[in-house]
Amino acid sequence: MEITFYGIKFAFGFRIINCLKKRGAINVLVGGVIKLSNFLDMKNIKIAQKTFMLSLFVATVAGCNPSQVNNTQNEPVLVSPEREPVYSLPSLDPGKQQSPINIFTENAKEDLSSHEFVIHFKDEISAVENLGHTIQLDFARGSSITFRDITYNFRQIHFHTPAEHLIDGITYPMELHIVCSTEDKVSPSYLVIAILFKMGKENKFISHFINDVPREHEITNVNRGVVKLADFLKLHSSKELGHYFHYQGSLTTPPYTEKVNWVILKTIYQASREQVEAINKLEGNNARHIHTDSNIQVDDD
Ligand SMILES: [Zn+2]
Repeated sequence: MEITFYGIKFAFGFRIINCLKKRGAINVLVGGVIKLSNFLDMKNIKIAQKTFMLSLFVATVAGCNPSQVNNTQNEPVLVSPEREPVYSLPSLDPGKQQSPINIFTENAKEDLSSHEFVIHFKDEISAVENLGHTIQLDFARGSSITFRDITYNFRQIHFHTPAEHLIDGITYPMELHIVCSTEDKVSPSYLVIAILFKMGKENKFISHFINDVPREHEITNVNRGVVKLADFLKLHSSKELGHYFHYQGSLTTPPYTEKVNWVILKTIYQASREQVEAINKLEGNNARHIHTDSNIQVDDD
């Protein structure tokens, strides 16, 4: 079959149509214009021209979904919403409890049962790392937190600029994650305490390490007792973490593991513009997009 578009002869026109049929892309051929070059598999068709606009008389076109490629019946296949990943990256297949999320405070369910934190806190930050994509503070071993009958060890603290979690659609300029995990090395469960920042007063905790952040992919050891998280969280006077939102979600970086208890403190902390900008300059914009499925239950504690 030979087709001529804008003076270019396409002897492989028949092949293009077949390819599209295999992908379930074409339902009905009638009037209309679409840009096929946007979604054709250019490698298979081996078109010499870098870009071209192929005008076809097509009115109804179903979406070209990768999950339809293996359809051997040459028929369009409806993909059930349950199977469709809501948010995914290539070769990853996260489920339905992905983080971060936008927390609608009005929808958060008031949790009447009390869930106290039991904290054994030595407050020993042993190192500051620059991982390239984030600044990380490492805890020395020995500090733990028990929440809902599970004991987690404090592992590390890192930052996201801008914040990952949204509160009623508002994005804050920075979010700090205190990452704790169970001893299980094969399949640990996580507790992440998230603290949102607005720009304001200089934050003393940040000022204790910001000048010690090493060059990219390097690590600086910190003398014990210099970087004190307890001052920052005001854990000396009370071991309460204050009011918070809680939900079951995932890590926000690969492998996006879904065994994470998220505790997002309601108190919005402050850091100076210079501090937020300094951290952002070091790590770039490293916030994952929010997970749009709002069926995740958020508890208001
Ligand atoms: Zn994080």
